[in-house]
Amino acid sequence: MIVYGPVPSRRLGQSIGINNIPPKICSYSCVYCQLGRTNQMQVKRQAFYSPEDICREAEIKLKQLETENKQADYFSFVPDGEPTLDINLGKTIELLKPYNTKIAVITNASLLWMDEVKQDLMDADWVSLSIDAADEDTWHKIDRPHGMLKHQNILKGIVEFSKSFRGTLVTETMLVEGINDQEACIEKIAEQVALVQPQKAYLLVPTRPPAEPDVKRASSDSLRNAAAIVRGVSGTDVECITGDEEEEGFFFTEDIADDIISIASVHPIREDIVESLLEKRNANRSVISELINQGSLIEYTYEGKKFYKRNIHK
Ligand code: SF4
Repeated sequence: MIVYGPVPSRRLGQSIGINNIPPKICSYSCVYCQLGRTNQMQVKRQAFYSPEDICREAEIKLKQLETENKQADYFSFVPDGEPTLDINLGKTIELLKPYNTKIAVITNASLLWMDEVKQDLMDADWVSLSIDAADEDTWHKIDRPHGMLKHQNILKGIVEFSKSFRGTLVTETMLVEGINDQEACIEKIAEQVALVQPQKAYLLVPTRPPAEPDVKRASSDSLRNAAAIVRGVSGTDVECITGDEEEEGFFFTEDIADDIISIASVHPIREDIVESLLEKRNANRSVISELINQGSLIEYTYEGKKFYKRNIHK
């Protein structure tokens, strides 16, 4: 499924997801990744799907929404890997532009030292850059980067991009207990955020089952503390996303199984949310059992709560 959704998100409203990277090809293997460990570590950009095929699927999706009198706010590149590894990203964005739907890219920023990657992102309307650490040691611990990457080049690339990008730029920092939630780490991150001056700095905690089972979310106290430091040092607007927010406003298609797979393509869904979706559609749990039996959905437990995620290998 290259184009899926739309799925609701707090930051982007209703967005049509573009999965332009096969699972799970990435330049990082973050300890908190909700897609599991990276299968293929890569920094070399390459072609995966043709931009024309992606646009064709996107157009079908828009037409389908139009017949249902619905509208999407964004096309968002949130793939099963790092979106800038796609050498055709810029071309795909260019082809999607005429559809009058804004374009968002959520990237780990690891390839921003390359001019062509900066160029590819220039025409997006909204870009989120990940800054999990501003010191090399912590960066290795949390993001487990490809061996060819140089942290200083990435940080420099992020700042350079922020100076020329004209769309909405935000940063994203995932806070993991004992890895990057200490004050010393946060202060360095805050200094980096100060250089970037994003419209908003998002602080997140892993709320869904992470790649490494012993990864724990930063406590509410360290999250509050981190928000105060980032705000104080950078002067940037800071927002914390803890994942405890209720997820509402899902668009429904004719097919509840499709809806669930679409949402689970972006992130694992908590059991209570699945249940409320089923209830709203007068459906029962057999939909879930069937998806699990088919191998499309995987059930697992994190912090005592049951979650469902799409089987990206299916
Ligand atoms: S969280 Fe994003 S950047 Fe990190 S390993 Fe997963 S897909 Fe890659």
